[in-house]
Amino acid sequence: MSGASRSPSSLVLKASHLKKSFGAFTATNDVSFEVHAGDSLAIIGPNGAGKSTLFDLLTGRKTPDAGSVELFGEPVTHLPPWQRVKRGIGRSFQVSSVFKSYTALENVQTGLMVSSGQSWSLLGRAASTRRDEALAVLGKVGLAAKRDVPAGDLSYGDQRTLELAVALSTRPRLLLLDEPTAGMGREESRECLGLIREIAEREQLPIVFVEHDMDIVFSFATRVMVLVAGEVLIDDQPQAVRGDARVKEAYFGEDI
Ligand code: ADP
Ligand code: MG
Repeated sequence: MSGASRSPSSLVLKASHLKKSFGAFTATNDVSFEVHAGDSLAIIGPNGAGKSTLFDLLTGRKTPDAGSVELFGEPVTHLPPWQRVKRGIGRSFQVSSVFKSYTALENVQTGLMVSSGQSWSLLGRAASTRRDEALAVLGKVGLAAKRDVPAGDLSYGDQRTLELAVALSTRPRLLLLDEPTAGMGREESRECLGLIREIAEREQLPIVFVEHDMDIVFSFATRVMVLVAGEVLIDDQPQAVRGDARVKEAYFGEDI
């Protein structure tokens, strides 16, 4: 595995032997991997492979039955999501999670407030809270001009981009993006990941993302991990993964 030989000082996230079952069904089975500074790690695998469940274990939405998660060398396995956010995990969800009746700006303001431990229910009384900071984050993703548009009135692509802004507002040191381009066409997906990569490079943010389009995966990932039936099939450089016979088989013989 490519992670094994790398410097301990660049280690951002370490998942060890993670396991999660739902009744008799094991969705995550002995998953171990590392994320290092500079990584753009794509997690791929067929539907139901356990990608979202793994993200939930990393972010704290779900607790593993066994195994551990370390962030910058500190165990976070049993911390709730908000404490992981405070320690640097920024995430976006497979299904869009913006507040549709809030404006774009208010959505980012809520992210800022949540990450600093303030309650977002205060928003109504504190509409000016951290407005400048929120505007700056919207600017990073190119949505500043749409700040006063209710999120529900934004195009689907802009809603996903807003979600990225909310994730960035929590001042992450690692970005976990579960299908950030879900529901987008290929061109829009490329633009979206291009933006993500630009921001990640500028802010030196390692990213872990789930993406189905193999062209996009292989143009944006520095490493690819393949999950099949809850297990890591391979975790390596893109070229090694692309040429792996087991990966082709997992994708039903498709030449990826
Ligand atoms: P992916 O994101 O790779 O498509 P998921 O992690 O969403 O896969 O799901 C992996 C498997 O775990 C699926 O078979 C799904 O039905 C099952 N699963 C996920 N969450 C639950 C849950 N809360 N209860 C029962 N089964 C679940
Ligand atoms: Mg999923």
